[in-house]
Amino acid sequence: MNKQMSLTLLRMFLNLYVLCAAASSALSFSSVCFGQTGKPEWCKNLPRPEYKSLEQVPLNDPWFEVYKVAPATFAIYEPHQAEEVISYLVVGTKQALLFDTGMGIGNIKAIAARLTSRPIVVLNSHTHDDHVGGNWQFPFIYGMDTAFTRANAKGSHEDAQAEIAQDQICGALPKGFDPAKYSTKPWKISLFVHNGFKVNLGGRTLEIISTPGHTPDAISLIDRANGLLFTGDTFYSGEIWLYRPETDFAAYLASTKKLAALASEIKLVLGAHNVPAAQPSLLAQLDAAIHAVLDGKVATNSAKGNQAIYQVGEISFRLRNPLPAVNSNPGPN
Ligand SMILES: [Zn+2]
Repeated sequence: MNKQMSLTLLRMFLNLYVLCAAASSALSFSSVCFGQTGKPEWCKNLPRPEYKSLEQVPLNDPWFEVYKVAPATFAIYEPHQAEEVISYLVVGTKQALLFDTGMGIGNIKAIAARLTSRPIVVLNSHTHDDHVGGNWQFPFIYGMDTAFTRANAKGSHEDAQAEIAQDQICGALPKGFDPAKYSTKPWKISLFVHNGFKVNLGGRTLEIISTPGHTPDAISLIDRANGLLFTGDTFYSGEIWLYRPETDFAAYLASTKKLAALASEIKLVLGAHNVPAAQPSLLAQLDAAIHAVLDGKVATNSAKGNQAIYQVGEISFRLRNPLPAVNSNPGPN
């Protein structure tokens, strides 16, 4: 987060405060804004119903929940923070790959070690703070060769602090966690990688598919033999965030097209927030939806300040307001 974004966040908080204070003449500020139980609104909708049909791995951890979403493939979910971020551990016969390391609030290295005894390498779907929090714990990290990635590898205190504001946490932070000291710790990139790069885990190969747009370093990861596609923040069930300054809409359009073309090869789409399993048919819907929105064919559900929400069928976006001018049909090149 830069200074501009911090100011925007502060302004949003102040607006919310004024709104809540105005509405709370008889009730306390917290009962109006965080509900009678002191819980933020988003937290009241948990657990999400989709988790009922998933196989939970009983690790009894106070921060993480783990689900086996395919053979030797685990979703590591953080339901106590508003991002509801999901990292994935993909295990081969020789090594395992951790696709993202979460918020850095709980100890993801300890969780991963309970799921596999193989050595673990880390690759990030992109380097927003909520996906790289545990990177510092691991000795080998792949990184995309972008200035955005290199800048984020330096870590950040501000981004991390915004993630633990009162309305961002559901339940208790883990024992021993010190909120004042919480920051995204720096990490070292061991090897720069690129589109088409393959990681052999032993009996299982993962391939990087560059899908920039949400960020310049956004990637997806495909396990062709098992029909799995990990899409990071390029696609997940729930409101897809595309409003930050680093989001490039022309690049995002090209990436959704690329993913839609992969749908026939895969069985399961695994996104990085909210729910760890979606049907491949949603990728074509995603591509059509973002084109429709950027072509001005969809009215916003709500627009506040510099953000607007759009819903097209099952797909929803939080986009920049006003919408940027993007030619969504550039034609063949
Ligand atoms: Zn992100």
